[in-house]
Amino acid sequence: MTQTPVASEPPILRVRDAIRRRQRFLLTSHARPDGDSIGSQLAMAFALDALGKDVRLVNADRAPDHYQGFPGMDRIEIVARVDTSAVDAVIVMECGDLERTGVAGLDHPFIINIDHHVGNSLYGAINWHDETAAACAEMVFDAIRALDVPLSFEIATHIYLAILTDTGAFHHSNITPRTFDICRQTVEAGVNPAAMARRVFDSNSSGKLKLMGTLLGSMVLVDDGRLAVLHMDDGMLEACGCTHNDTEGLINLPLTAREIQAVVFFKVTPENAVRVSMRSKYDVDVRKVANAFGGGGHKNAAGFTVEGRLEDVRPDILQRLVVAIAEGLHTRPLP
Ligand code: AMP
Ligand code: MN
Repeated sequence: MTQTPVASEPPILRVRDAIRRRQRFLLTSHARPDGDSIGSQLAMAFALDALGKDVRLVNADRAPDHYQGFPGMDRIEIVARVDTSAVDAVIVMECGDLERTGVAGLDHPFIINIDHHVGNSLYGAINWHDETAAACAEMVFDAIRALDVPLSFEIATHIYLAILTDTGAFHHSNITPRTFDICRQTVEAGVNPAAMARRVFDSNSSGKLKLMGTLLGSMVLVDDGRLAVLHMDDGMLEACGCTHNDTEGLINLPLTAREIQAVVFFKVTPENAVRVSMRSKYDVDVRKVANAFGGGGHKNAAGFTVEGRLEDVRPDILQRLVVAIAEGLHTRPLP
């Protein structure tokens, strides 16, 4: 007897049942991967392996170097376009909409959409969207548990990697008891938190240290020192012997200063576009600013890309950030 899904059934159970009933899966996540996209994707891949499923992994971009040694990384194919006709389902993780994947050809009739970003466009046949998850990997962890897959060292490693990075090394305001409960279980499964932190955050090249100096040397403070503005172009990267691979995490440096409530990082691209990344503390909501320019993210970490010259787009962005800081400071929690 075939079971028809009950609309009111919790999405996690619909995801579980959909996975159980299918054999061939394509797993993908967002362009310019981060720890949560890689961790969610590979944790899910190892879980599907354990269930005897056929798994193919594709992403638009290669992950930064410090993720390369993690288990299963070499299984991820880097593609601009994919043919999904040979799979029974496409699982998309960490993507508010399908375009975020950066991969063409993903419009399969059975997409499982698992995401924690505010404003997911519900593009799947099954949409499991939980804005309260500190990382998409918290949801993947729950799915893996629902599927009765044991927490192997590989799965635990990827879940921890995702949570460690997506919480900004436990700095963001989206952390809950559930976050630590999941981390506890991953540590019980063999994850070494000290080794993970060193491997992810302390594996800079000496060129990257130089780049930090250059960036901080040209940092501008506005809004009475509450907003730090960083900007970078390819020339700065070259001068320090760096590539885009070396830029992850740089945006967090100014937030280590007590007075600074938000940071905006402008990356000028050769294609006359500006890639804008933002980070903030506590209740300063930079996602609102990203939304105003067609981007997205979370309260404390968001981004977008705008066409045009930096000097033309910059004033409006800074003005909106100053407003976000003023609003956020009203509701600032006690430390
Ligand atoms: P980033 O500054 O690129 O590290 O991104 C910070 C957060 O914002 C991550 O959760 C991203 O997924 C999200 N984000 C960045 N750029 C975009 C975009 N263009 N659209 C939607 N979300 C974005
Ligand atoms: Mn995430």
